[in-house]
Amino acid sequence: MIIDLRSDTVTKPGDGMLTAMMSAETGDDVYKEDPSVNELEARVAQMFGMEAALFFPTGSMANQAAIKLHTQPGEQLVCDKWAHVYNYEGGGVSFNSGVSCKLIDGHRGMITASQVLESINPPDFYHSPLTSLVCIENTTNKGGGACYDLEELKKIKKVCDAHDLGLHLDGARLMNAIVANNENPEDYGNIFDTISICFSKGLGTPLGTVLVGKNTLMQNAIRVRKVLGGGMRQVGYIAAAGLYALDNNIKRLADDHQKALEIAACLEQQEYVKSLEKTETNIVIFYLNDEHSEEKFMNDLLKENIKISNMGHGKLRIVTHLDYTDAMHTRFLNVLSSYL
Ligand SMILES: *Cc1c(COP(=O)(O)O)cnc(C)c1O
Repeated sequence: MIIDLRSDTVTKPGDGMLTAMMSAETGDDVYKEDPSVNELEARVAQMFGMEAALFFPTGSMANQAAIKLHTQPGEQLVCDKWAHVYNYEGGGVSFNSGVSCKLIDGHRGMITASQVLESINPPDFYHSPLTSLVCIENTTNKGGGACYDLEELKKIKKVCDAHDLGLHLDGARLMNAIVANNENPEDYGNIFDTISICFSKGLGTPLGTVLVGKNTLMQNAIRVRKVLGGGMRQVGYIAAAGLYALDNNIKRLADDHQKALEIAACLEQQEYVKSLEKTETNIVIFYLNDEHSEEKFMNDLLKENIKISNMGHGKLRIVTHLDYTDAMHTRFLNVLSSYL
């Protein structure tokens, strides 16, 4: 039994999802003739109270397309220094859109409205790049699954409106935040111009992300997706997994959150652990005491067939997910308590 806690992307479709996929109605989605993709896009748009939706193969591509829709080359976006769009999308911001990033020194990957306000270049000061977009991440990845306060997001929206800035949400794990805080997807649809919602993280599909947004912005999205190489054909087999996930895999995210809390509580009691970030969703970030090396700790876990992630700077990461069973959980807690 391998216990893979490196990421919530490692899940494989179970019987129910596979059956849904195998029996999907499909067509050529480049002609917009795939009924399963059309249904998924319509359902996600409706869920978020957004006008338009488009299915993408990856979260990175959906974010990159959104950035392209919001900006012109030479402009600048504002994001936290830990943002996925800046750190983990291969430099796509500059490669695809010719845009630079103003990095904010936020808290656990989250930025405030006043930080956004301070980071806007004066539009009439032609020496500096024109600020045109703010990118938010919820939950934060590098920030350890931390969740924004909706009130702060509304304040950020006000700043964006006052300064004519677009507002994009990288919602790779947005459903985790919504479940953890008992929120509604429309709360987010009301605030953001575009939102990417990933299906291959906590929702457990093999791939796929839906980008939702306002019609005015989204009308060019299909062209940008084509340019990025993301026009897919009979992709209804995958969209069917997404439809299955909407029906079956949202509420259960609470189980992942509960297990993550129990792991955090267990780690907190261990002498070899120096500190932990607060666990809010399905990500646990912790640091070892100085006399323990991360490499040795990870290797010792590997000998027990347990995989976790090293995020650098002493940061170790555990992510719970659909394929992390109760039996694995019991075993993992035992290994953690008896380590040393
Ligand atoms: C996983 C993730 C994405 C999407 O990554 P892909 O590898 O392209 O699926 C985007 N943003 C965040 C915060 C993520 O964690």
